[in-house]
Amino acid sequence: MAFTEPAGAAAATQAPPQEMPQATHQVPPQTGRAAGPDGILRRQAQRESAARTYARSLPIVPVRARGLTIEGADGRRYLDCLSGAGTLALGHNHPVVLEAVRGVLDSGAPLHVLDLATPVKDAFTTELFANLPPALAADARIQFCGPAGTDAVEAALKLVRTATGRSGLLAFTGAYHGMTSGALEASGGAAEGRVTRLPYPQDFRCPFGVGGPEGAELAARWTENLLDDPKGGVSLPAGLIVEPVQGEGGVNPAPDAWLRRIRDITASRGIPLIADEVQTGVGRTGAFWGVDHAGVVPDVMVLSKAIGGSLPLAVIVYRSGLDVWAPGAHAGTFRGNQLAMAAGTATLAFVRENRLAERAAVLGDRMTAALRGLAASHPCIGDVRGRGLMIGLELVDPDTGAAAPALAAAVRQECLERGLIVELGGRHSAVVRLLPPLTLTDEQAAAVLDRLADAIPAAARRPR
Ligand code: PMP
Repeated sequence: MAFTEPAGAAAATQAPPQEMPQATHQVPPQTGRAAGPDGILRRQAQRESAARTYARSLPIVPVRARGLTIEGADGRRYLDCLSGAGTLALGHNHPVVLEAVRGVLDSGAPLHVLDLATPVKDAFTTELFANLPPALAADARIQFCGPAGTDAVEAALKLVRTATGRSGLLAFTGAYHGMTSGALEASGGAAEGRVTRLPYPQDFRCPFGVGGPEGAELAARWTENLLDDPKGGVSLPAGLIVEPVQGEGGVNPAPDAWLRRIRDITASRGIPLIADEVQTGVGRTGAFWGVDHAGVVPDVMVLSKAIGGSLPLAVIVYRSGLDVWAPGAHAGTFRGNQLAMAAGTATLAFVRENRLAERAAVLGDRMTAALRGLAASHPCIGDVRGRGLMIGLELVDPDTGAAAPALAAAVRQECLERGLIVELGGRHSAVVRLLPPLTLTDEQAAAVLDRLADAIPAAARRPR
């Protein structure tokens, strides 16, 4: 893909190639306070928690959005490659999502129903099951969880612990599963608990120093050996949880052969395999589910983000044989979000009908190839990797090869000034991440790449 147009700092205010509607509403009136974005941002900084995250690096007050484009209260427009941390498979306010939400609102259906059956929920479950790996769908159960991905992770861990009567868990270096205690314990940042940490294969910073299929095979052997070693210090666990592509961990795709080995290792030992597809699901990686690339059928799938069509929804789907927990074993008031289910049904159907997973694969390959071309002339880009429209660039110190988080933060800032929103991730927060909507057009992809291509040398030129 060619970089079609040079993008300067003025690009942030230019209309991007996007179907942004004319303004249909005004910024809500403020009462007796500075109404502009500066006042809002100032009050946010004063009143919100020190733990706030995206708000620190993205001083934007979004007031309108459509597709890839988000517009701030100051009138500036941005190409949003953060997409609600990978939630917006169809971008902002996609017409089919809006129509589905309006349909529920106009129908008079109750918006809150705990976990009762409704036609909206029935349609969601039917559409979701139609898209699951067939071998799982044939014998699956679904549990609607609290609205966040992390709650579904908790449910998955509870499910396999109940079903196996065991408590240990296998999880990976670099993993991210959420912020509640069980999910956090399974994530790479945790240092203690009932979790045994296994090496996740990485080509760029391979823990075994070899990378490629050999590094992945060594990682699998380590897992196998640890489980079979009577003095290895690891008893048979309740489950193994894995991301088909580590997102927050720095966009590390699991090699297909390795994932199949993990499936074999777990299946032959009666260890339930939990695929955390919170970020990889619904076409993001170029297949409907991240596990589809390897042809692996997990015992449990954890789903959130895109399945709610931009509204909060989280579920687990699992083999019926695991369904031995008691009524109320995983409860919660907010398990029946009707608007999210309707938006999710519309999103799942749109992705399926328009083969957006295939589109993500094609476009992702092209964007990754273009970024590799960019890396060839910019030694500060140490690695370009990803799968489908889950893409990462690792910024490094060209002299030492060490991860360069300050440079990555500067790239994010330069991108913002050029009207492009990107996220950082990775072990050292040195990976610039792109998670654009699957509806991205060729022109939009070119605009994203242009702005990034312009931002990287500008960031590298900044005094350190
Ligand atoms: N699992 C994965 C793979 C994720 O990427 C995330 C969120 N980034 C979560 C779980 C947690 O989801 P939530 O933030 O909705 O709790």
